Amino acid sequence: MTLSDAAVDSRAARLRAALGDRIVLAGDAEYDTVRLPWNRAIDQRPFAVARPESAEEVVDIVRAAAASGLRVAPQSTGHAAGALAGSDLSDVVLVSLAGMRGATVDAEARTALVLGGSQWNDVLAVAAPHGLTALHGSAGDVSVVGYALSGGLSFYGRAHGLAVGSVRDVQLVTADGTLVRASAMENPDLFWAVRGGSGAFGIVVSLEIDLLPYADVFAGMLLWDAARASEVAHAWARWTTELPESVSTSLRLMHFPPIPELPPFLSGRSVLVIDGAILEADAAAAAILDPLRALGPEIDTFARIPSAALVAVHMDPPEPSPAVSGHAMLRAVPAEAIDAFVSAAATQGPTVSELRHVGGAAARRPDGGGAVASIKADYLVGGVGMVPVPELAVPAAAAVQRLVAALAPWHADACALTFIDGGEVDRALGFGASADRLRDLKHRYDPDGLFVAAHPVG
Ligand SMILES: Cc1cc2nc3c(=O)[nH]c(=O)nc-3n(C[C@H](O)[C@H](O)[C@H](O)COP(=O)(O)OP(=O)(O)OC[C@H]3O[C@@H](n4cnc5c(N)ncnc54)[C@H](O)[C@@H]3O)c2cc1C
Repeated sequence: MTLSDAAVDSRAARLRAALGDRIVLAGDAEYDTVRLPWNRAIDQRPFAVARPESAEEVVDIVRAAAASGLRVAPQSTGHAAGALAGSDLSDVVLVSLAGMRGATVDAEARTALVLGGSQWNDVLAVAAPHGLTALHGSAGDVSVVGYALSGGLSFYGRAHGLAVGSVRDVQLVTADGTLVRASAMENPDLFWAVRGGSGAFGIVVSLEIDLLPYADVFAGMLLWDAARASEVAHAWARWTTELPESVSTSLRLMHFPPIPELPPFLSGRSVLVIDGAILEADAAAAAILDPLRALGPEIDTFARIPSAALVAVHMDPPEPSPAVSGHAMLRAVPAEAIDAFVSAAATQGPTVSELRHVGGAAARRPDGGGAVASIKADYLVGGVGMVPVPELAVPAAAAVQRLVAALAPWHADACALTFIDGGEVDRALGFGASADRLRDLKHRYDPDGLFVAAHPVG
């Protein structure tokens, strides 16, 4: 046995002694199941996986890992496992928060108290009966913490800002193994840092968020065959320049394989889809949508729907999936940018090429905001490549890269941390002017670099 094998064994033994069946070690029967992230393209192999079910167990895990000379990475679903994969996990205890889900609503205060591993679907399930919703993103199975504490771009975002602005209070276990509350009143420095610094500052066991007063919303999607891509994309880009902030939409060119799991209107086809939400009364919303409807979409589902159904509109994969992705924020999408987008998104392009209309309140820093509080850009270009077999990862990533690079003349000095999917991507654009203070606070709250996060801050 080599010395390092002996060291590994002694660390494993200490963890096992401290945490019992809350810890799954490499070699345990369950290891290859519990280590799998939502993004199945990422083969993450941490030193161990811990599965707490309470804040007290999170405290025990952090203390045991630190005492064993190991680092700690919180993970709720693994949607951002690609970003975490930039870090070496061989000495890291991955703390899966999947066993800490659930939310309660204070309807009068219009807030939700959310456990650290909760997904947006958990919040919507308890908010909807009160006629309330939240600044969730396009997928209901993304976690509240992983999304909201890194920014969070929502179809409510142009009207109500980034999701991080809705965070009122965070309870987290910090590097010294204590459970700490961070809010505007308590530990304000930490509250500032965690709103953007996220898992780099501790393991969030619960947080309180503001809810939005929408029981229903005018939302849906329009679909055309990809043969219409150029015409419709140009029309969408012109349309977005005139819109009120009540409208948040996305345009995607998507290529689907001919597989029976897909509905017939998608299977084996390339299609252009515009979807999103219009926070207006029906008549006003319909009038706003008219110029796009005049282009004769093959499918038009825009209608008033329960707000909890908004997470289904974007048709994100309902199950864990293997994918690579990338993005850039854009200052504008003039006609030349649309030509570049359509050309890069065509048949050799990524599985999904997206332009998302951002700006509005999402681009304005609110009073009292944290380290990340706004994204100064009006659009986002993003690509997703499905990776059904590992050999496709390199060509899929190259297609995403070509798409993002094709829009380089319009790139903004900003990025959406939530859309970063690779370890090698520079986070500086995401942290902007907050980077230095974040680094200082990281050294104060986590001097030994115990926490490993999807988006390292220093
Ligand atoms: C299908 C899909 C749709 C998406 N749609 C949108 C969208 O519309 N808008 C948008 O902005 N983003 C979107 N995203 C990106 C998504 O918001 C990020 O990937 C986000 O980080 C996922 O959070 P998670 O906790 O689910 O993932 P994880 O990989 O589990 O977590 C990501 C990081 O968050 C931190 N973290 C998570 N939980 C905790 C915790 N309890 N305590 C401390 N730190 C924690 C950790 O640093 C972790 O590495 C989408 C991603 C996918 C795959």
